[in-house]
Order: sequence, then C-alpha cells, then structure tokens
Amino acid sequence: MKINTNFGNIAENYLFSTVASKLAAFQKEHPEREIVKLSVGDVTRPLAPVVIAAMHRAVEDLAHAETFKGYGPDRYSYGYPELLDAIRSSYARKGVEVKREEVFISDGAKSDLGNLLDLFSAENVVLVPDPVYPAYVDANTMAGRKILYADANRENVFLPLPEEGVHADLIYICSPNNPTGAVYDRAGLKAWVDYAKREHALILFDAAYEYFISDPALPRSIFEIEGARDCAVEICSFSKTAGFTGVRCGYTVVPDTLCFDGFSLNRMWARRQATKFNGASYIPQMGAAAVFSEEGEEEIRANIAYYKENARIIGDCLDGLGIWYTGGKNSPYIWLKCPNDMKSWEFFDALLEKAGVVGTPGSGFGKNGEGYFRLTAFGTKENTEKACRRIEAFCRG
Ligand code: PLP
Repeated sequence: MKINTNFGNIAENYLFSTVASKLAAFQKEHPEREIVKLSVGDVTRPLAPVVIAAMHRAVEDLAHAETFKGYGPDRYSYGYPELLDAIRSSYARKGVEVKREEVFISDGAKSDLGNLLDLFSAENVVLVPDPVYPAYVDANTMAGRKILYADANRENVFLPLPEEGVHADLIYICSPNNPTGAVYDRAGLKAWVDYAKREHALILFDAAYEYFISDPALPRSIFEIEGARDCAVEICSFSKTAGFTGVRCGYTVVPDTLCFDGFSLNRMWARRQATKFNGASYIPQMGAAAVFSEEGEEEIRANIAYYKENARIIGDCLDGLGIWYTGGKNSPYIWLKCPNDMKSWEFFDALLEKAGVVGTPGSGFGKNGEGYFRLTAFGTKENTEKACRRIEAFCRG
C-alpha cells in the first residue's frame, strides 16, 4: 500500500487553534476578565420559525407509513422536488434561470467545494486569492495540484483581477469573500468569466454569503454574468443564509452547458455523486425548502438584518477611529488594517490583553493578510456594542 503523501504537504493550520489556546491561557491567568469574541464565523441566531415548523412536519412524515421517506426520490440531484423548485425560484428572483437537473443538493458547501475536485486531473493548475478560505488550498494540496495565488491587497481593495500571462485551469472565487468581506461588482466578475473562457478554465464560485448582499447593483450569482454558464459552477449553502451550520444543507449548480474535452460536467458530477453520496437528509431538505418561501425569505432576512446591524456598528466604530477596512456592508465580515502598523498577531495580543476582545489575525489566511484583522458580525448586538466600546477605548487610550 502506498500512502497519499500529498497529505504531508498540507500546512498545519494553527490559526483557530492558536486563537483558542491564547484565549484559554489568558482566561486562566485572568479569570475575572470578561472576554468578548468577534472571531467566530458561526451563526448565533436561532432558526427561522417557518423552517422549524417545516422540519417538525418532516419529522412527523417519517413517523407514518403513508408519508415515510427512505432514500431521496431524485437519484440524479438527490433533491426533493419542493427544494429543487424553491432553489430555482430563488434564482429566478435574481433573474437567473436554472433547470432542475442542474441543481444538486448537498450537506453543505464545504463538501462540494472539495468533492467537485474528483472531476479534474491532478495536473490542473489552481488559482486562489490570497488571503483565502483555507479549505480551497488544503483540498487541492491533498490531490497534489499546483496552486497559484492572486494577490488581494489594499491597492485592489482585496478584489484581485486576472493577470495577463498567468494561466490557471481551476479558479476559486468567493464573493462576498471570507475573510475580507469584499464583494465583486459585475465588471469584476465579467473579467473573471472572460479570463476563464480565454484560458479554457473553470470557475468554482463560492456564494456562501450571497444573502448578505443588499446593494442591488452587486451580483449575487456568477450566473448573472453573461457567459458564466460556459465556465462556472456555483456552490451555495444554507449555513449563513439561514443559520444551517448545525443542520447541514447546501446546493451546487452545474450548468448542462459545461463541456470540457467532450465531457459534460453536469453528467460527471451526477455520476460522481451517485457513486460516493446518498443524498442530504430529508428533514434539513424540508427546512431548506421553507427558507425560500415568501414567509421564509422574510424571516431569514430579519436574522441577516440583525447581523448586518452588528456589521454597521463595527464599521461606524472603525470610521470614527479612522481605521481603514473593507467588508461589512454586503458581508458579515469586516477586514481592517491593524492600527499603528501593528502585525496581525501583535494586534490580537494587544486587543485581548488591553481590551478583552478577540478577533482573527489576518496573517492566518495568507501572506497578504499580514497587518490585517478579521472581525465578524455573527455575535449578539450587546456583545458587538461592548466590543466596539472597548476597541474605541483601546485605540484612543
Ligand atoms: N465557503 C466559505 C467561504 C465559508 O466561509 C464556509 C463556512 O464558513 C463554507 C464555504 C462552508 O459552508 P458549509 O457550512 O455549507 O459547509
């Protein structure tokens, strides 16, 4: 037996474990200090009532022989018709038409972001932004692919564009971005679509945070961009849209127009899923279908508005302090320049010790993150306000 030694090339990600161990050490030394965390990317609001009701009904279905469900009904996409149609109507509201056979239901975006790679040769060159959501890098490193980085920095407002002379086969785009909160406009996405078509490449578009976009001028789906059906798949999630981080449900759109070397990606993906996956659970699927009902949209938007109010509070605090940041307007993440040219971990330590506030050091997301810091809007309003008062006192003090 030969082991996949590519695993030896995966960099240990010490980011969140170091944040946790530094916090634990500080709390042990200062048990009297109350710490406010604006570091976690997990949601805190309970699920929308309409989702809870739908999942209760789904549980009840399983209790009776007449309504009991076994394996999912649609062995192509693993979606129940209620959910597939709800997703299609959500796309229609964005002016995007997708067919039922193009929507594949998953247990979340992270699985599909990694599993889609089964469709592509290990010889492909991958392009990711730096800073980056670490799963893109690790999943490709496991398969032994070469990874190139597109520099995201203050000059391009953390929205890199394709570079002349750089070839890639697979391109990851995450908009709204984790960790930077930056969002591409139509021209930015069009530049990537044109590049992908020129290079005969595929865009893996991570739309996990699309529901945080409220500016109607900003695209929420890559398929709003002309030509994207020939060069992009879109990976979506109910995690941040509707608080499903613990429930688990997502979906991926693979257009039937995607064809490379005579292979239909849609058919390849269906085949891959049929071989290695047996569908997302019935109960979460019914909850997810309720998310895109009229009532569901209203209720989830109330939760998103709650988080976005937190983002506004953080943004106002940073504006008042004259600290540069991006994100926060159409995203739950605020990406700020550490004051006084501090390094990311230096600012982390100072903020923890002097202000009792925890954020995430930007350097943990890539070399271009050095000197930056991520705050999240996923906490409670009370904690967000408290953290901002403390950050203000720290920066002014
Ligand atoms: N993509 C991005 C950019 C994320 O930040 C996350 C989670 O934080 C995911 C995907 C994973 O989403 P899911 O919970 O659907 O697996």
